[in-house]
Amino acid sequence: MDEFEILDSRFRAYVLPNASLVKLGEGYAWLEGPVWFADQECLLVSDLPNDRIMRWTPDGGMSVFRRPSGFANGHTRDRQGRLIGCSHRHRCITRTELDGSITVLADRYEGKRLNSPNDVICRSDGSLWFSDPHYGINTDYEGGKQTAELPPMLYRFDPQDGSLQVMADDFEGPNGLAFSPDERLLYVAESGRQFAADPTQHIRIFEVLDGGRRLSPGRIFHKIAPGFADGFRLDQDGNVWSSAADGVHCIAPDGTKLGSIKVPFTVSNLTFGGRNRSRLFICASHTLFAIYINQRGVERP
Ligand code: MG
Repeated sequence: MDEFEILDSRFRAYVLPNASLVKLGEGYAWLEGPVWFADQECLLVSDLPNDRIMRWTPDGGMSVFRRPSGFANGHTRDRQGRLIGCSHRHRCITRTELDGSITVLADRYEGKRLNSPNDVICRSDGSLWFSDPHYGINTDYEGGKQTAELPPMLYRFDPQDGSLQVMADDFEGPNGLAFSPDERLLYVAESGRQFAADPTQHIRIFEVLDGGRRLSPGRIFHKIAPGFADGFRLDQDGNVWSSAADGVHCIAPDGTKLGSIKVPFTVSNLTFGGRNRSRLFICASHTLFAIYINQRGVERP
């Protein structure tokens, strides 16, 4: 259990003494966007700069799921279990239909092209919420240099009527996002100025109002150090499990850091999966790790 750093006694309940960090794959460029398919017992994960999505299964290990991927980044599943993804290269969010065809759901707002959708989640009403920072069009490495037409914003897409709504626009670089288990709160990572002397490293929290049609002004929930929050997930008790430069940090709903899982490389994102959603799959730069914990992810991440 050397991987676990306990800062608050509440974290002890989540630690499994026999659990250790297991390497599932390595040699990738930059892993992102992990999503668990319980019905197929597999994980999909973006190998972003290599323009492909990888698939991991317990028996088969890693294999290529899709290449090219449109420089896919974040993923989730909708209420019908379909794969929803963010494409840097094509500046859109997509849905993979059950027959394997790919539908572009949103690529423009008021006639202007989206930037590079980064991460996406699905609410219980079926709406898709995603961040649209500039990162993916700033470099050829993550999808190809292109010109931004819109400021970094947070959107809500409604698959029922195809509408796209701006939910928050006061970001430098919105990144990962997740709802609280009751969906009354929305957490959004702000990772603007990533490489500046004073990087923004915090996770912001918003109240979800009007049945999911409006957000309160955001406030700072927790400041991550070292590094910054990219992607994160919540467990069934509302704790936030966030990426950081030194591993995965567990943050209580009151904003207190309870402890961490030490990972040797910078973590970009993670997701719960495996049996009972109690295994954390961790994207750590070029390496995919997993570790069992004594806690379950939210039922519908
Ligand atoms: Mg991200």
